[in-house]
Amino acid sequence: MLALPPLVYYMWICMVDHGGAFYIPTSIDELLALVKRVPAPTRASTLFVVLWFGGQALLQIYAPGDWVQGSPLPDGRRLKYKMNGWFSFWLTILGLFFCCWMGWIPATFLWDEFGPIMTSINILTYVLCLYLYFKGKASPEQTYTGRVMYDYFMGTQLNPRVGNFDIKLFCEARPGLTLWVLINFSIAAKQWQLHHSVSTPMMLVSLFHFFYIMDYYFHEEAILTTWDIKHEKFGWMLCWGDLVWVPFTYTLQAQYLLTHTGELPLWATLGIIALNLAGYAVFRGTNIQKHHFSRNPDHLIWGRPATFIQTVRGTKLLTSGFWGIARHLNYCGDLMMALAWCLTCGVHNLLPYFYIIYFTWLLVHRERRDDAFCHAKYGKDWEEYRRQVPWRIFPGIY
Ligand code: NDP
Repeated sequence: MLALPPLVYYMWICMVDHGGAFYIPTSIDELLALVKRVPAPTRASTLFVVLWFGGQALLQIYAPGDWVQGSPLPDGRRLKYKMNGWFSFWLTILGLFFCCWMGWIPATFLWDEFGPIMTSINILTYVLCLYLYFKGKASPEQTYTGRVMYDYFMGTQLNPRVGNFDIKLFCEARPGLTLWVLINFSIAAKQWQLHHSVSTPMMLVSLFHFFYIMDYYFHEEAILTTWDIKHEKFGWMLCWGDLVWVPFTYTLQAQYLLTHTGELPLWATLGIIALNLAGYAVFRGTNIQKHHFSRNPDHLIWGRPATFIQTVRGTKLLTSGFWGIARHLNYCGDLMMALAWCLTCGVHNLLPYFYIIYFTWLLVHRERRDDAFCHAKYGKDWEEYRRQVPWRIFPGIY
C-alpha cells in the first residue's frame, strides 16, 4: 500500500519526462522535485471521476442484461449477477466517440488529465476501501481476522453488496477495464495531434487491448467462476488493483509509443499479431472450457465427452482439453498476449516490458496460491489432479 501508488506515478513520470527511461534521482533536491511532480486533483479530474463512476454504476444498475446465478457460496447460497457489461461497454465507447466527434470533449482529455485523474481515483479508492472495511465489520458474516491493516488490505467481505449492486463485480470490470481502453485511445489521439499520424505499433496495441476487453465483456459470465469472484475478499488489494493499477499501468505501452513513433518491420508486425492471436486462442479457450464444464459437465470438449476427477467435496476437476495439458494454461495464453503487447514497443527500453515482467510474477504467484488453496480444499483429489496434469502453466517448462 505504501510502495505501489508511488510506483505508478514514478513510471508515468519516467514516460513523460524521461522518454521512457528509468530515472534515478541522485540528490535530495532531485528526489523532492520528483515527489512534487505528483499532481493534485483538478476540477476537471474530480468532475470526470464523479461522472465516470456514477455513469458506470448507473449502467450496471439499469442497462439491459440477463440475471445469472453465480457459483455456490460456502453456505450453499447462489448470488445473482446482472450481466450487462457488453451493452454498457459499447454504449460507453460509442457515446464517448460521439461526444469527441461533436467536439464536446477533446479526444486527448484522458491523456491531458492523466496525472490528476490518477490522483483523484487513488483518493477515491482509499476512501472506498475504508467504507468496505467498516461495512464488512458490521456485517453478520464476520469474515475478517481482526488485524486492521490486513483486513483493510485483503478485505472483510467476499461479496460486498448494496442491495443487488455487487461492488466487487462492478470494480473488477466497469470503471477500470473500460478506462484502460479509453486512455489508450486518448493517447493515440494525442499522437495524431502531435504528429498528424498514428503509428502502426500504437494502432496494434490499442486494438489488442480493445479486443481483449471487448472479449471480456462478450464472455462476461465467465468471471463468475474465476478465483477473484469465488474466493478473494474485496479489499484494497483488489480494489486499488482494479481501479488504479489496471488503467494507469496497463497503458504503459501506449504511453511509451506516444513519443516513440518508429515503425516495425512487416515481419515483426505479422509475428506480433500471430502471437497475440495464438495467446488469445489459448487464454479464451481455456477459460471458456472450464466455464462451460462447470455449468454442464456433459458439455463436449474438443468433440469428446469431458474427463474429470470426481472430488470427495462434490466438485468435478476437469482433466481433458486445455485443463489436461497444464493446470493453468489460461495464464500461459494471457502471458503470450502480454508479450505481444510489449513487443510492439521494440527492444530498446525496459520500461514498456514492465507489464510482462510484473504479470509473469503475478500469475506465477497466483498459481501457487490457487494450488495451495485447492490442495487444502480437495486434499488427495488435488494430488491426483497434480499427478495427472503435472505442468503448472507452461507445458514442458513449468
Ligand atoms: P482460474 O479461472 O483458472 O480459476 C481457478 C479456480 O478454478 C480454482 O481455484 C478452482 O476453483 C477451479 N479449478 C482449478 N482447476 C480446475 C479444473 N481442472 N477443473 C475445474 N475447476 C478447476 O484462475 P483465475 O481466476 O486466477 O484467472 C482467470 C483468468 O483471468 C485467467 O485467464 C487469468 O489469466 C486472468 N487474469 C488476468 C489478470 C489481469 O490483470 N489481466 C489478473 C488475474 C487473472 P473451484 O475449485 O472453487 O472451482
